[in-house]
Amino acid sequence: ATPAAIMVGTGRAAELGVLFRKGEALETLSHVDTVLFDKTGTLTEGRPVLVDLVETTPDEALRLAAALEGGSEHPLARAIVGAAQEKRLDLPQVDDFRAIAGHGIEGRVGGRLIRVGARRFLEGEGIALGDLADRAAELEGAGRTVVYVSADDRALGLLAIADRAKPEAKAVVAALHKRGVSVAMVTGDGRATARAVADQLGIDEVHAEVLPQDKAQVVTDLQGQGHRVAFIGDGINDAPALAQADVGIALASGTDIAIEAADVTLTRGQLGEAVTALMTARRTLGNIR
Ligand code: ADP
Ligand code: MG
Repeated sequence: ATPAAIMVGTGRAAELGVLFRKGEALETLSHVDTVLFDKTGTLTEGRPVLVDLVETTPDEALRLAAALEGGSEHPLARAIVGAAQEKRLDLPQVDDFRAIAGHGIEGRVGGRLIRVGARRFLEGEGIALGDLADRAAELEGAGRTVVYVSADDRALGLLAIADRAKPEAKAVVAALHKRGVSVAMVTGDGRATARAVADQLGIDEVHAEVLPQDKAQVVTDLQGQGHRVAFIGDGINDAPALAQADVGIALASGTDIAIEAADVTLTRGQLGEAVTALMTARRTLGNIR
């Protein structure tokens, strides 16, 4: 396409809420055959809510988890702290707080070492989950994110957190499929949870339990197989993948770091704008498929 045609294309896209940083990205997007979506905050609302609590001593796991999560900026932290506030629980003081990216958090409460996080985090520390793991499987099958709580080397309970899929997500996946684009999900969340959400949305390929520093590697691997990849995300965690992708697409509702790493911003934060972006690119470059 001529530079003038590219300018018309990016101008048209801007009117529709899709901001291209450079004309080149419009051209690259016209060749994209694979779209990778971050899960939390991109395919889902990113407003997690505590929906289930399994514990032996009433409110003990919730109280300890909320005390620790007060020091965390993770989206799951809000759900846990919010639930404790609603129950008006008094939260104990936490010392030596530490966040372990992609795994969870830990800290000391009254001399006990408390851990809050993913199954792989607690099991990696040698903590047996016993019956809790069976309850978790059921909850994860329904798309809940399960977070475990332990004190020293004993599991105290689990918290199940729900984050609704965005209303337009399923239709966006279907629209991309219809245009011959493969769709996959990338998330730090557990396999069963990710699979359940993907099934709801009609996504076949899932990359779960991906550590924040490894999201970009998923993009690189697909590129190595000859794919042209767009990555759509909103978080700080997504920035390396947004930069590595042939076209990085950030939601305007996302963090500044994600927007800066991306080539395209969806200014209304609507996933449907991603389909608009793709179609505008293909029309401009004359690659209608
Ligand atoms: P996501 O892609 O969902 O943002 P992350 O890499 O941030 O994933 O986290 C992956 C998993 O690690 C979470 O699903 C959770 O099990 C665990 N985790 C991380 N941070 C926390 C936290 N502050 N509290 C509880 N669990 C956490
Ligand atoms: Mg996210």
